[in-house]
Amino acid sequence: MQSLPTTYQELLSRVTEGGSREIFDPATEELIGLAPTATEADLDRKVQAAREAQVAWAKLSHAERSDYLMKAADAIEATAEPLAELLSREQGKPLNGPNARFEVGGAVAWTRATASFGLEEETLVDDGETRAVLNYRPIGVVGGIGPWNWPMMIAIWQIAPALRMGNTIVVKPSEYTTLSVLALVEVMNTALPEGVLNVVADSADRALGPKMSVHPGFDKLTFTGSTATGKKIAASAADSLKRLTLELGGNDAGIVLDDADPKSIAEGLFWGAFINTGQTCAALKRLYVPDSLYDAVCEELTAVAQNMPMGVGVEEQNVLGPLQNKAQYDIVADLVQKAKDGGGRVLLGGTPDETAPGFFYPTTLIADLDKDNPLVVEEQFGPALPIIRYSSLEEALEEANRLDVGLGASVWSPNLERAREVAAQMQAGTVWINKHGAIDPRIPFGGIKQSGYGLEFGVEGLKHMGVPHVICE
Ligand code: NAD
Repeated sequence: MQSLPTTYQELLSRVTEGGSREIFDPATEELIGLAPTATEADLDRKVQAAREAQVAWAKLSHAERSDYLMKAADAIEATAEPLAELLSREQGKPLNGPNARFEVGGAVAWTRATASFGLEEETLVDDGETRAVLNYRPIGVVGGIGPWNWPMMIAIWQIAPALRMGNTIVVKPSEYTTLSVLALVEVMNTALPEGVLNVVADSADRALGPKMSVHPGFDKLTFTGSTATGKKIAASAADSLKRLTLELGGNDAGIVLDDADPKSIAEGLFWGAFINTGQTCAALKRLYVPDSLYDAVCEELTAVAQNMPMGVGVEEQNVLGPLQNKAQYDIVADLVQKAKDGGGRVLLGGTPDETAPGFFYPTTLIADLDKDNPLVVEEQFGPALPIIRYSSLEEALEEANRLDVGLGASVWSPNLERAREVAAQMQAGTVWINKHGAIDPRIPFGGIKQSGYGLEFGVEGLKHMGVPHVICE
């Protein structure tokens, strides 16, 4: 077991050892370091190591595994600054604001919370004649495939409940944010037994994900990423009937009710939409505002948005960063162009400086868009929010619910009873009131429709990392 790295340079040199694939900072386009690349044989070796380690790990009690997780959380906390710096350089997100330091803090909090939940066996029937008891047992070896937007936090959402439940795991980070997850695993492994937590680094052509979804050594895959990739995984995992948790894309709607106060909700709306510079699965991606408040909400939101500094992540004043990669930059630029072509009124942003280094797209607010405009009906996953006018609440609900995804949604009103009534009619896994995307390790989270299936977080999340086991007498 290695000691904890104490500096960014030490952490970086450990995770780039033997690497050959260049990783660039999306803010400066400067080289950060060389990432290693695992072969199919490396994947087989890691799966084998996980399988061997699983036997002893599953024999530990929940309390013993929780104790290991608590120590892993302490290790992350002790290395928080080097981890945040690496995350900021590789992902692009600023150190400050709800970004890199926040993400590392979230990784600590989620690990501790997941270690602390009770999961008691449940007596289902005990009537003198029949006694049935439900328990959750380990599944075996779990494969975790992750995206590039919140690479450390999402890796933890896969790792912590899988380990807590007595599984071992092999995680595969996105090829865009490999170093961040290698670093997280390096740090956690200073506290965990060998073979329990494993990581494989992908190649630039994303070769490993498809291999994982057909690999016979995985009993379950937990995937966070796009709906398109989720469908491919479901199809290729069908042959061995691997268990799946699929946390996929969304296009979350927010509905402002006509009794809301535009000034007091503006900052909440802003961060709901622009957290992690819009690169968040459950971010507010379409905002529906009634005629009576339309101009005021546009004005207040613009006032908040124009004061939020965007820039290089490791410069302390910034709270918004670049898009993580050129492909995502192109998606955002294309959708904003289509919004302008479709008659959208640009309230803020909309014109990137193409001569500057980095994949920066300015904070963009677009009003007066048609309900069918691509910026409304497609997931932008970046800093461009469409604000759509509505005349009746029925119409707003119909528009909010019409898409084939349903991850999160929100309702904004000081009248909680009324907000709850509207929330009950919104088609999403989670509906927030007067906030958006406010996830919590105690509260289950997951999508409906094509945003996926399965739950993460809380006791429900633990159950999804186990197999039900009933003893009936
Ligand atoms: P992506 O689907 O392109 O890639 C995700 C991961 O899948 C990467 O590790 C990639 O290498 C791997 N992969 C690619 N092809 C594969 C295949 N055929 N088989 C197996 N694995 C494969 O997603 P992304 O661009 O990294 O992430 C952005 C998307 O993720 C957005 O749609 C966003 O909404 C979604 N997301 C969802 C959640 C959630 O909790 N629901 C959270 C974060 C991001």
